[in-house]
Amino acid sequence: MANETLRAVRGMNDILPAGIGLWQHFEAVIRDWLASYGYQELRTPILEHTGLFKRAIGEVTDIVEKEMYTFVDELNGESLTLRPEGTASCVRAVVENNLLYDGGKRLWYQGPMFRHERPQKGRYRQFHQVGIEALGYAGPDMDIEHLLMTARLWKMLGLAEFVVLEINTLGGAESRASHRQKLIEWFEAHQDQLDEDSRRRLYSNPLRILDTKNPAMQDLVEAAPKLIDELDAAAMAHFDAVRQGLDAAGVAYRINPRLVRGLDYYNYTVFEWVTDKLGAQGTVCAGGRYDGLVAQLGGKPAPACGFAMGVERLLALMAESGQNPPGAVADAYVVNVGDAATRFAVLAAEALRDAGLKAVLHCGGGSFKSQMKKADASGARFAVIIGDDEAAAGEASVKPLRGEGPQQRVGLAELAGIITKE
Ligand code: ATP
Ligand code: MG
Repeated sequence: MANETLRAVRGMNDILPAGIGLWQHFEAVIRDWLASYGYQELRTPILEHTGLFKRAIGEVTDIVEKEMYTFVDELNGESLTLRPEGTASCVRAVVENNLLYDGGKRLWYQGPMFRHERPQKGRYRQFHQVGIEALGYAGPDMDIEHLLMTARLWKMLGLAEFVVLEINTLGGAESRASHRQKLIEWFEAHQDQLDEDSRRRLYSNPLRILDTKNPAMQDLVEAAPKLIDELDAAAMAHFDAVRQGLDAAGVAYRINPRLVRGLDYYNYTVFEWVTDKLGAQGTVCAGGRYDGLVAQLGGKPAPACGFAMGVERLLALMAESGQNPPGAVADAYVVNVGDAATRFAVLAAEALRDAGLKAVLHCGGGSFKSQMKKADASGARFAVIIGDDEAAAGEASVKPLRGEGPQQRVGLAELAGIITKE
């Protein structure tokens, strides 16, 4: 190891300063958007007990079967897992801290998630999600809120024309049970066409067979019995209300009866926002209702729904659409040549910050010419230029770097005023 080049873990990326502008722009938009709907941030640990994810996500799912980073804490023998998603942790925290004691809660979280998948474009082993969960709300008004929220966010991010909404309903427990029985019968009758994964899931989780990405099984899956034909009146009414809410708000959607989601906890409404601009990794946001999960994790029963978006995929889509916002740029780059100038420049830069401006102090010496090059490359709006002359007089020269304008020499007291005004 000693002489090998050190590298990041495969599938886990550094986010470098050159690319950070897009992240920061996205994060700023997200905060405004969440505040405008009254959601509160929840921060949970990145590590949880492995049992939480097994219980919440389900044993027979891609995530739990093969994607989790699980290890034994050698200090006490506990099995821990890097969180692969946020809903399980959120519900655990809500139950543990009794957050629903005075009614429903609208929550959001963001941060890295970890899944041991084959890295490729739009699929990483550490990736980021922003997730939203509303707990304690049973009605379709909350499903509608989430769908309208997402539609609004795409507009705010300039992505509305690149994504489409797919929705489905999984119904309640009874319709799922009778659908499950019909699916097992259908796939039993076509055993020869099942791949290995599907054969293994036939009795443990036949619904997941519908989610297969195996091209050879698409016809079989297309023709399989549909859950929508099993729905009871309550599930139908909920779904109809969601559709009416979307129609009333003018949000377009298509019903995808094959949309089942890869996690066990969903019921009733499920949805995905998909794009055809990112190749195979086309789902940028996904979620739905999970009314049973709070009780399943030991809480007093409470209905809930939510969704999560893949930040890397959304940023890729934004970049695809030509967005490339710069990171924060300084108001002033403070050039200084000479010992007295350098001492004075420190004070000048502090004075600019006192006035609420962003100032980068040139450090490390060099000629005026080389420092001015750096000032220009920094993207700063102004160069504040200080030589020993200026320092002796307690003054600085101010030169606009973006656009025309005269160079002006002013005292320290007027410096910030000139930059603010321009
Ligand atoms: P996929 O079908 O692409 O594997 P998923 O159903 O496993 O997605 P969810 O668990 O619903 O994904 O996670 C919500 C969102 O997080 C996805 O729609 C996607 O945008 C993003 N996402 C999931 N896994 C990854 C990953 N490994 N790398 C980057 N983004 C991901
Ligand atoms: Mg997946």
